[in-house]
Amino acid sequence: MVKTKTDKGNIKNTLRKISLKRETPKSAFILLALLYAISYYMVVITAKAHGTVVLFGVTLDISSFTGVFSSLSNICLICMVLLFRKAGFILALALLSIQFPGILMNIIRLRNYRNIPGIFSNILVTISVTIIYLGSRRITLYQNSIREQAVTDRITGLPNRFAGGELMQDLIKNSEKFALVSIDINNFKSINDTMGHETGDNVLREIADRWRTLADSHKTGTTDFVGRTSGDEFYLIITGTGSSEAYKKTIDAYKDELERKITIDDCDYYLTACFGYTTCPDDSDVIENLYLFSDSALHEVKKKGSGSRILRFNHSVLNSEKDLEIERKIRSCLSSGKLLFNLQPQYDLEHNLRGFEALARMKDDDGSYISPVEFIPVAEKTGLIDRIDLGVFEMAASLLASLPNAENHDFLLSINVSVRHLMKNNFMEEIRRVISETGFPPHRIEIEITESIMIDSAEKALWRIEEIKKMGMKIAIDDFGTGYSSLSYLNSIPSDLLKIDKAFIDKMDDSDSSKQYVSMIISLGHILGLKVISEGVESQEQLDELKAIGCDYIQGYIWGKPMSPEKVSKLMESVDAGQPVNPQ
Ligand code: C2E
Ligand code: MG
Ligand code: MG
Repeated sequence: MVKTKTDKGNIKNTLRKISLKRETPKSAFILLALLYAISYYMVVITAKAHGTVVLFGVTLDISSFTGVFSSLSNICLICMVLLFRKAGFILALALLSIQFPGILMNIIRLRNYRNIPGIFSNILVTISVTIIYLGSRRITLYQNSIREQAVTDRITGLPNRFAGGELMQDLIKNSEKFALVSIDINNFKSINDTMGHETGDNVLREIADRWRTLADSHKTGTTDFVGRTSGDEFYLIITGTGSSEAYKKTIDAYKDELERKITIDDCDYYLTACFGYTTCPDDSDVIENLYLFSDSALHEVKKKGSGSRILRFNHSVLNSEKDLEIERKIRSCLSSGKLLFNLQPQYDLEHNLRGFEALARMKDDDGSYISPVEFIPVAEKTGLIDRIDLGVFEMAASLLASLPNAENHDFLLSINVSVRHLMKNNFMEEIRRVISETGFPPHRIEIEITESIMIDSAEKALWRIEEIKKMGMKIAIDDFGTGYSSLSYLNSIPSDLLKIDKAFIDKMDDSDSSKQYVSMIISLGHILGLKVISEGVESQEQLDELKAIGCDYIQGYIWGKPMSPEKVSKLMESVDAGQPVNPQ
């Protein structure tokens, strides 16, 4: 085993460091104590002095400066308590209690009655510093609990992702070797769905306890730091070695620990997980890359679905040749302002325009279109999706806001927003900026999200959705039926519209049971108080059927393909002129 500087203490130090606020430097304490000593000495000198001084032409008794120095010494004591809390309070009390008999003796022995106000001043300062200390103690306790929460996962008590990032930063700073492992529990969702979230949380706690015990036992021969990222995702940082075999052996130990039977409330669970890992500094020494690499290895191993459940990162995992090429094209498109968009109309069953869905378009070097089905996933993987989402929103909103008669229109603009983009901290800020720049009203904007948002991080997602709703925008659940939504998720999202995926509409032509399935989704949407739109409607038969089973809106080639901005302007001219809408 390679010997490194890392040990358990190092990890604890990192955790302590991030859970403590920055301390005021000790030198300030010494400075204040010194200033106090000087001021107090000056009080004693000036109180006894009988001479006079001339200041700016005015003759003053030296003793009249006593009050100034006395106030200065009191200020020093108050500052000590404010800045150094307990230590400052103890020192202030000690100094005040030394001071007190001194003043008293001065009055009694020397019959110096001019010092009587000093007694009151001493008592008042003692009361003041006590009040300040007690008040600040409550604040300190509160701050400590907040800081603790900021680095700890609420359900399992394990360090959270932020704590892991801080530890890695320290390790990189100290040039230490380590592996970052991303872990995802397989089929965990089915426990939540069948046994409820409380049982799910208990299972997560049991996994956390097992792994924490293993990490603390040092049985793996490495120094391990285990934490929870979110949902059923955990991470592991393995230090104290640089060898590939040791990393693999340690991950195997965590895998075995998990795969032992878990019993909760008399039910047995047999869990497995996928592990994707990357090493520092071999693969990268940049934290963002390390996260990206270990996550990519994890996704790859999950995709395989069988065989080994542990995969080490390699560059083929990150980018296949084709993806690299598409990434290059997206970047060049974005940097040269060549991102395009189409708008696809949505109608009610009476063929009245409901609104438009904005769809990104991108041209290849030879002028042909690249399908969003190809470039959207690459944009999501490479983090370029935010710029596409916003670019499309910006262009579509300015077009619709600048149409003649725009102020008389009330149709909606639906925009697709990827989960990754929606979860960004500045998402709302970006949306507000586009709204204020284009002047397109928020109550006519509909944000399309997919069900996967609730799987990734339900709590934060719901919070973000609330923010969107508060601004007056609408929420649509896109591609409904293709994800893994449970009814409880669906019920908890305050959405306005359910979009049935084209795949279900296509199948309606095949069998009666498929028609019933669509009918059931529509009823379900209505029970939940949502409107329902069917995507990808192409034939008259489908349209008739959807009418018969009570679908509210349709979006499909039958009444409107995605259109260029020019075609949209023409369509709106006919809408304004009250002509029948037939865009094709
Ligand atoms: P989506 O949001 O479900 O959009 C509907 C897709 O179905 C569009 O494909 C549309 O052209 C297609 N479609 C609608 N009606 C019919 C029909 O009757 N027949 C057929 N064959 N297709 C129909 P498109 O434009 O290729 O977009 C595919 C997906 O890419 C979108 O699915 C959406 O998930 C994603 N996407 C497109 N633009 C953006 C964007 O700006 N941001 C994000 N995050 N995703 C986008
Ligand atoms: Mg959509
Ligand atoms: Mg869709």
